Amino acid sequence: MINVLLTSSPCMPKIDLHSHSTISDGSYTPAELVTYAASKGVEIMALTDHDDVGGLAQARIVAEELGVSLINGVEISVTWNKRTIHIVGLRVDPSHPGLLAGLESIRAGRLTRAVAIAAELDKAGITGSLEGSRAYARERIISRTHFARFLVAQGYAKDVKTVFKKFLVKGKPGHVSHQWADMSDAIGWIRNSGGVAVLAHPGRYDMGKTTLHGLFNTFKEAGGEAVEVVSGSHTVDQYRIFAEFAQLYELQASAGSDYHGPAHNYFDMGRLPPLPSGCVPVWQGWPELAQFEARRISA
Ligand code: AMP
Ligand code: MN
Ligand code: MN
Ligand code: MN
Repeated sequence: MINVLLTSSPCMPKIDLHSHSTISDGSYTPAELVTYAASKGVEIMALTDHDDVGGLAQARIVAEELGVSLINGVEISVTWNKRTIHIVGLRVDPSHPGLLAGLESIRAGRLTRAVAIAAELDKAGITGSLEGSRAYARERIISRTHFARFLVAQGYAKDVKTVFKKFLVKGKPGHVSHQWADMSDAIGWIRNSGGVAVLAHPGRYDMGKTTLHGLFNTFKEAGGEAVEVVSGSHTVDQYRIFAEFAQLYELQASAGSDYHGPAHNYFDMGRLPPLPSGCVPVWQGWPELAQFEARRISA
């Protein structure tokens, strides 16, 4: 039986291992995001931009100034069984050539997809969306979030969340199916660069039990080692459900808000509850944790 009513341990640092900056589709720059996290009391954080590690160097400068332990992360888009799945890599080496080449190939695919999305929106009478969305994309990534911001600004929907109901999703204008990276390739890039592969927010995939077990099996067999149990995208019930999955598949457990900035309807930073009891934290044994404990003792 998994107990989700554990109270926070006073010795536990505030950890958040999933967040986004303007390098992908977040609204704060890496420096602003780390500053914001620190203001919310986060002590150990991972920056996990979609398909890009380009923000980590900037984030690290501010993290060191503010005494936040920054974990090098990334969130890789993969296709499994015709579905889009996200794999978070933690403690990756952002200069590893294999990882960089893999991410670069996904970014190239994003550009091709953006052209196709714009063509689909054209057919629905919405013109100028490629240039319009590009104006919101600050760096190398163009994502559906940027299209969503453009559509909101043009008055097609009241907010980004509504866009993802009326546009850009299956059966709606602007939808394009896309082939992302292979799951085993993505896990390989993460592991070869020294990182841990984490199955991101499994509660978001809208799958039946059988498909979900298939996903966990494939992930585990491909070398995945952890799963997000506590996620800004999960309900309290899902904390318990995925804690049980973690135990069943002998995966470590991770926790992340998936924060994208104040304009998004996402979970805020610094508010994550502790992992349910029985979970093995993915951060167990990390040097960043020892540093945190050393700081506490000297404080
Ligand atoms: P992409 O990777 O370009 O397909 O874009 C996916 C991104 O869209 C996710 O990372 C979220 O940030 C955003 N997104 C997807 N669904 C929703 C939703 N229902 N509400 C708000 N943002 C969403
Ligand atoms: Mn996103
Ligand atoms: Mn995701
Ligand atoms: Mn994310």
